Amino acid sequence: MVAALNHSDWRRNAIHDLDSDTLDVLVVGGGIVGAGIARDSAMRGLRTGLIEQSDFAFGTSSRSARMLHGGLRYLAQGNIGLVRQASLEKLVIRRIAPHLAVPLPFIFPTYRGSPWPNWKLRIGVKLYDLLCNRQNFDRSEPLSSGRIKSLLPGINPDRLDGGVRYFDGATNDARLVIDTLRSASRYHATLLNYVRMEDARRDNKGWLCRSCDTHNTNHFIIKSRCVVNAAGPWADKLPRSQVKIRGTKGVHVVVRRSRFSIPEAVMMTEEKRVVWAIPWGEMVYIGTTDTDFSGSLETVRTHPEDISYILGVVKSYFPELNITETDLISTWAGVRPLIAAAGGHPSVISRSHRIIISPDGWLDAAGGKLTTYRLMAEEAVNKLVRFLNRAAPPCRTHQEALMEDGEPEGVSGVIPPPVTVEAVRHYCEKEWAVHLDDVMIRRTNWHHYLTDAKNVARQVSDWMAAYHGWDLHRQQTEWQRYVDFPN
Ligand SMILES: Cc1cc2nc3c(=O)[nH]c(=O)nc-3n(C[C@H](O)[C@H](O)[C@H](O)COP(=O)(O)OP(=O)(O)OC[C@H]3O[C@@H](n4cnc5c(N)ncnc54)[C@H](O)[C@@H]3O)c2cc1C
Repeated sequence: MVAALNHSDWRRNAIHDLDSDTLDVLVVGGGIVGAGIARDSAMRGLRTGLIEQSDFAFGTSSRSARMLHGGLRYLAQGNIGLVRQASLEKLVIRRIAPHLAVPLPFIFPTYRGSPWPNWKLRIGVKLYDLLCNRQNFDRSEPLSSGRIKSLLPGINPDRLDGGVRYFDGATNDARLVIDTLRSASRYHATLLNYVRMEDARRDNKGWLCRSCDTHNTNHFIIKSRCVVNAAGPWADKLPRSQVKIRGTKGVHVVVRRSRFSIPEAVMMTEEKRVVWAIPWGEMVYIGTTDTDFSGSLETVRTHPEDISYILGVVKSYFPELNITETDLISTWAGVRPLIAAAGGHPSVISRSHRIIISPDGWLDAAGGKLTTYRLMAEEAVNKLVRFLNRAAPPCRTHQEALMEDGEPEGVSGVIPPPVTVEAVRHYCEKEWAVHLDDVMIRRTNWHHYLTDAKNVARQVSDWMAAYHGWDLHRQQTEWQRYVDFPN
């Protein structure tokens, strides 16, 4: 846990810790995969450090669809192994983080002549429940076209022949990262945001990783017996990486629920692709796109063609709704760190993960999904323990809760918490928040959820200024950083 030290003292101490001793495991990347590995590694008694070049969850892990899902789409592609794995993991997350796993019913309308025939889906959702050992969030059921029309007034009735209801879980991706890291820090992992690994070389004792504190560009060396590359879409840019990533971009847009009034999530299709609309408190977010991406990972953003694609699919299902760009409250765009495979449409590239350890202790953990992060971490740490030749205890991350009872109240959940000075203070004191966008985007999602987010950001900036001792100039810099953040 971040101690009640002032933030710069705490940070100096953490850097000193990393600089002075030799770690067993240095994790590079503070997304969900890195957070999961740091937690598991620390829980098994390995001396663990984690560095993140930006804020924790800055990358894909704050830009997903926030579903805990086996992936009905992967079932349609015949990938039963992957669906089974992810289906069991969504239940594990419900157990260890109930505040970040709420039932998410989906209505999936079907149309005659579409590549998603009604009979196939009826069988598919039953199989989906079975793959969860019948312990899914709830049981799937077939729906008649009359029932679909009453649940979804305004739905396009042309060739509608019924549908199904099935269940996944709704989560909060960035909160899952932060709460996983809080658990890791309880087990004495040293965690630092805004520190980038720039180079890694080996001597006869282990790895020497040249790292840079991006706040002041000071460089220091972190010594570690093993290095974990958990850099997500950046994974093939790290010096000793053995993986090749094919990044594909996915966009979500947010509209008011009063504008798109759906009782439950709705699955829509465009040929073989799917687009979902997911209720999120007073909002609904809709996504996603899936297009090859080769631009700058630091500034991935939503383009007009992404918006037109999503709104085009909504229009084909709800022709009279007339949602346009002016209805958008916010958008987010992320890059899937998929393991490269030659050719093929991005939608059919495998979502499975790869964990490879080299004979000199460099481990790559890439691909996968938010839902399977804990399993990826377990596999990775098993390999690290073997490499280190340690008599470490077995993995317990599937049993132990991320947070203690009552701890998430007012600060962590699927829906953003109320805006309070206490919450902001908590994020600064206990959750490593050092910039305005850390709080507005990753800790709370206020930026994407509140229609008056900019006014709220002014207030949050004042509270953060009081806590961190920012002067007027710093407050202006923070404001600029926040408004320039790519959406
Ligand atoms: C649009 C979209 C929707 C998705 N929806 C879902 C979903 O609903 N359910 C699901 O299960 N999965 C979903 N996923 C997949 C899931 O979000 C990703 O698989 C997961 O977040 C990847 O996590 P990660 O830790 O590997 O990568 P990231 O979260 O990107 O973390 C990698 C981190 O490494 C840091 N880093 C990079 N280089 C360095 C360096 N040199 N030094 C220090 N740090 C470095 C980066 O800043 C970054 O924060 C979705 C993905 C996308 C894009």
